[in-house]
Amino acid sequence: MARTAVLGLPRIGPDRELKFALESFWAGRTTVEELEGVARWLRAFNWGRAVRAGLDVIPAGDFSYYDQMLDTAWALGAIPARHGGVALREQGLAGYFALARGTAEQRPLEMTKWFDTNYHYLVPELVPDQTFSLDASHWVVPFREAGALGIPARPVVIGPFTFLKLAKGLQRPLELLDALVPVYGQLLAELAEAGAHEVQLDEPALVLDHAPGELELFERAFRALSVAAQEAGVELTLATYFAGLDEVGALERVLALGAAEVHLDLVRAPSQLKPALAALADGGAAAGSRTRLSLGVLDGRNVWAADLDAALDMVDRATAALGTDRITIAPSCSLLHVPYEAARETAIDPEVRDWLAFAAEKVSELRTLKTATGAVKRDVLLAAARESTSRRRTSKHTNDAAVRERVGALAAADYDRAAPFPQRRAAQDERRPLPQLPTTTIGSFPQTPEIRARRRELRDGTLDRVAYERFLEQQIDGVVEVQERLGLDVLVHGEPERNDMVEYFGEQLAGFAFSASGWVQSYGSRCVKPPILYGDVSRPAPMTVRWWQYAQSRTEKPVKGMLTGPVTILQWSFVRDDQPRSETATQIALAIQDEVLDLERAGAFAIQVDEAALREGLPLQRAQQDDYVRWAVDAFRLTVAPARNETQVHTHMCYSEFNDIMEHIVRLDADVISIEASRSDMEVLDAFVGADGIEYPNEIGPGVYDIHSPRVPSVQEIERLLELAEQRIGRERLWINPDCGLKTRSWDDVMPALEHLLEATRRRRAASPIAA
Ligand code: GLN
Ligand code: ZN
Repeated sequence: MARTAVLGLPRIGPDRELKFALESFWAGRTTVEELEGVARWLRAFNWGRAVRAGLDVIPAGDFSYYDQMLDTAWALGAIPARHGGVALREQGLAGYFALARGTAEQRPLEMTKWFDTNYHYLVPELVPDQTFSLDASHWVVPFREAGALGIPARPVVIGPFTFLKLAKGLQRPLELLDALVPVYGQLLAELAEAGAHEVQLDEPALVLDHAPGELELFERAFRALSVAAQEAGVELTLATYFAGLDEVGALERVLALGAAEVHLDLVRAPSQLKPALAALADGGAAAGSRTRLSLGVLDGRNVWAADLDAALDMVDRATAALGTDRITIAPSCSLLHVPYEAARETAIDPEVRDWLAFAAEKVSELRTLKTATGAVKRDVLLAAARESTSRRRTSKHTNDAAVRERVGALAAADYDRAAPFPQRRAAQDERRPLPQLPTTTIGSFPQTPEIRARRRELRDGTLDRVAYERFLEQQIDGVVEVQERLGLDVLVHGEPERNDMVEYFGEQLAGFAFSASGWVQSYGSRCVKPPILYGDVSRPAPMTVRWWQYAQSRTEKPVKGMLTGPVTILQWSFVRDDQPRSETATQIALAIQDEVLDLERAGAFAIQVDEAALREGLPLQRAQQDDYVRWAVDAFRLTVAPARNETQVHTHMCYSEFNDIMEHIVRLDADVISIEASRSDMEVLDAFVGADGIEYPNEIGPGVYDIHSPRVPSVQEIERLLELAEQRIGRERLWINPDCGLKTRSWDDVMPALEHLLEATRRRRAASPIAA
């Protein structure tokens, strides 16, 4: 009989219990015992549900108080000396949180995105003479807890290859594999001792592009671990996900390692199935070891009910080749990346809710798939799911004829501005001459407690819309007045009406739904509730014009229109999976284009389209990246293409790694781009001046004020950054602005920082230009 498994479950709690327990513990309001109690409850909640849903393989050790990479570093004793090294473990959870969040004396571990998800992990820090020492309690304790409930769980462990590849501090971290293998060996022995029969070793880093020799190092380490597992008497499931091993030449090699089971992500990379079956079936290159195949056929990264017939087709092919005993049916990756339960979302249109599957529904789908595998009459089992799939396919929500027609009629020229940049610049100069080194901000001004309170009151119904809008107008008055007083050249309205740069637009566009409890962990206690993009996207009515118009009515200076771009909206939402993402991006682009044109008609001189997430959408494997950047850049171009030459199009990107994507940034062809630059000491500009042979031709505003920190930069510091910028790109194309929006800062930091920014600008304008 085939079995069902999940690689991991959500852990923040169905009502974010972990978030609140952590925050009250950190605030000193609750004890460590209370926090541990919540953690135990959350684990038991997941296990209880999984058992009731008939799941065969139930994970343990996937729960985390903060992050699974931190758990691994902690357990291996890879704790930086600045935090006291391995002795920190004596402090228990307090020490663990010191690594995660820092202390008065020590900064925390760095945080970065987990592969291409919106989850962030803590980056382990390694040193050349790194040693390891095991504390297995992170896995042994929950494993025993599950055992006490009668559940023989499968411990989930991040493998040594992935751990080292994602760590920082060493040129060649994989050289430490030899030192880690015995430590992992000891972990396997302790888990066996506790009663474990199998252990899931997560090695998602295997799907990344490999440097020469890396795979050999992995193979050697895994063979050594297999010996240790055999001695201990546990089976190893080697789990890969987020992309295909086939694309990086690792599939056959991984299958040949003799693991008890190998898990493949067949949602992201269905192409793996055929070669995997060929290798594992009788007569195949890896047939001898009887390795089981874990088929990741349900999308662990998205919220849609599966097309069960398509999933079953893969299961059938695998069963035909290997027999049911060698098959596990699973989601593509851990369910950490989806919310708990769609059935609770009673406020979502029932038609749309029926198309959703969060973690709980995915576990039910696994059960259906398993039952269907052995069933004589499948139709009975699949009838409901099939009906839902077909209703979704034909719904008016997913087929808006007007949207389809508009997309279908697009021609190549629809992606280009009317004239090339030099002509546009001349037209813009004539319409609205700006001083040299023009100054502006990125859009938002401080989101004060007062703004948040009014928004809450509006939501609760204690403040009516008219009063709320009057309040927003007062906020805009204040922000415009401040900018005039400071002497900024291109003003903004300050975005007081937005809590979030994607949600604000999603709420006004057709095709989006919003869940009430659809939270997913971003890091630690932080969660996001991404909009659910389920249908064809269009813009029923103007979304921002009213606020722009009001701001512009208060000043002679130009006020920038402020929009979020199609790629960022896509990237920060759960996106429909019944058509390519590129097609959805095109629909969003046209909806935002409508807004661009309305702002222009209302008289906007400058319009900014933020693409904060363009870079993070880059696929993991180089082979897929070109296709993505092509359509992503096209979507931006389409959004702003019809803007007249004398309308100045800005874009903003909040990161500073442009080296490998410079040609695409050039192709965006925004008139002005603002980027994060202050922390890199303007070095990011090197990519813009041809360090890699590509010269950025349009105007650039490198950030000179680090808004991530409450620190106020001095006039001299900013002046120095301006000099560094001028040395690189000259004065003609240079704008002066902060790194990003100011919404997370307080007025107390923002005012002096902007005063310094403007004073530094005045000094530079008075000084003679530096030639680039
Ligand atoms: N306009 C947005 C703001 O200023 C941009 C934020 C972002 O790119 N993350 O807040
Ligand atoms: Zn930004």
